[in-house]
Amino acid sequence: MMHEAVLKGDKRMLPNCPKCNSQYTYKDTELMICPECGHEWNPDLVKEYVWKDANGNILNDGDSVVVIKQLKVKGSPTGIKQGTKIKNIKLKETVDGTHDIDCKVDGIGRIEISSIYVKKT
Ligand SMILES: [Zn+2]
Repeated sequence: MMHEAVLKGDKRMLPNCPKCNSQYTYKDTELMICPECGHEWNPDLVKEYVWKDANGNILNDGDSVVVIKQLKVKGSPTGIKQGTKIKNIKLKETVDGTHDIDCKVDGIGRIEISSIYVKKT
């Protein structure tokens, strides 16, 4: 049976369920199905989210970055100056890809900035 062949042959290649992270997902024609939570999704539409800095370098949690342009910050007269170093960034997925870095800036506090305005150090 076609269905079984896919199950056995590609089992290790299949992604975990994006909802409950179950590894017992299987493929049914075009859709992936999770037997544990019932979630169904199209694997072609699930893109892996990557964070890139202004130069296209991939950013990781805990990286240090430098801000490459003056950024306005609500409630701060100075904002974030160009060249400001930020340590230990935390990446987060956002719908439009902006404000996707969670970090702490000296003199400003916890803030979210966009990965396109930073450079990995
Ligand atoms: Zn699931």
